[in-house]
Amino acid sequence: MFKRLKDDFYLAMLTLVGAIIVLCVTPYGVYRLTTGNYIVGIADMCIVVCAIVATRAAWRTGDTVKPGLVMALVFCAGALLVCISLGADGLFWVYPFLVFIFFLVSPIRAFTLLVLLLTSLFMIAQLYPGAIFASTFQMMAFFVTTTITSVFSFIFAYRAQVQRRELQRLATTDSLTGASNRRTLNDQLAVAINECAKNGRQYGLLLLDLDHFKQINDKHGHKVGDKTLIELVPVLQSLLRQSDKVFRFGGEEFVVLVADVKPVDLSNLAEKLRSGVQQRMTLPDNTVLTTSIGVAQLQANEDWETWLHRADMALYQAKHEGRNKVVIG
Ligand code: GH3
Ligand code: MG
Ligand code: MG
Repeated sequence: MFKRLKDDFYLAMLTLVGAIIVLCVTPYGVYRLTTGNYIVGIADMCIVVCAIVATRAAWRTGDTVKPGLVMALVFCAGALLVCISLGADGLFWVYPFLVFIFFLVSPIRAFTLLVLLLTSLFMIAQLYPGAIFASTFQMMAFFVTTTITSVFSFIFAYRAQVQRRELQRLATTDSLTGASNRRTLNDQLAVAINECAKNGRQYGLLLLDLDHFKQINDKHGHKVGDKTLIELVPVLQSLLRQSDKVFRFGGEEFVVLVADVKPVDLSNLAEKLRSGVQQRMTLPDNTVLTTSIGVAQLQANEDWETWLHRADMALYQAKHEGRNKVVIG
């Protein structure tokens, strides 16, 4: 549970906002209902119910986009209703809302919703003078301060989003080749084990190790070695389906994780990669680059360490049998 909160920013924010809403809005809702202000009371209780349902849905499905959007839309409608019913007293509630809507949906969506909310409030104020604002001066002060708050919240949220994405990219990809890194591989292997146990999905793993790579470095230099590794990843990806994932396992070793694959298709794919690398990757002296591949289909009740170890053993055998070879583990 804590890992999910740590890894998924929007899920954590949705949960936090949901908890704050339940704790802070429920007493107000009860108070409004008991004092006969039914419209605001019902609006408050709708917001509370919506917060609970949306947070629950996000936890159950893992999708935070739709629950976040639903929550933001209901809160917009609720904020509008509270302002209309309470007049100037309700305006204070708009300020925290201007900030926390950026925790629920993407910055662009949040800003668009805020523009719609403030425009609606402005139009209602024009149509029914005195219904919301006590004076024109108060109205102008409200729109200037809410606009400033919205713009700064947007800038802050947008910068945070860009930095979060960059951090996510740095934490999950290999800096040299752009392939996913070993940490991501560990997560994905755990997902595969889970999916296989729960839904019987078939997974396969290919462990590739470039042949005599040390000699390439020694002969052509480390820079050419690096360039070869960089060029290899798009070559592999061009031979794979979109859903197949390439990871840099370390050094000149790569892992390909294949979902929904039968053993026969997995070994055909390994052969396709082996011959594809041989055909497409040439070195400066026009010699070809080759790779050895260990293949392992995920067995029922197997843990990921054993699965990876079988691929490693098969790779070891491929090297032993002369390299540029596929061995099924
Ligand atoms: P084998 O066919 O048995 O796999 O031989 P090999 O030379 O490929 O195997 P070995 O594991 O002995 O050497 C791997 C080499 O890969 C050693 C290391 O210098 C090189 N290497 C590892 N990471 C990088 C990298 O990021 N860039 C470059 N240029 N070379 C790397
Ligand atoms: Mg190696
Ligand atoms: Mg090697």
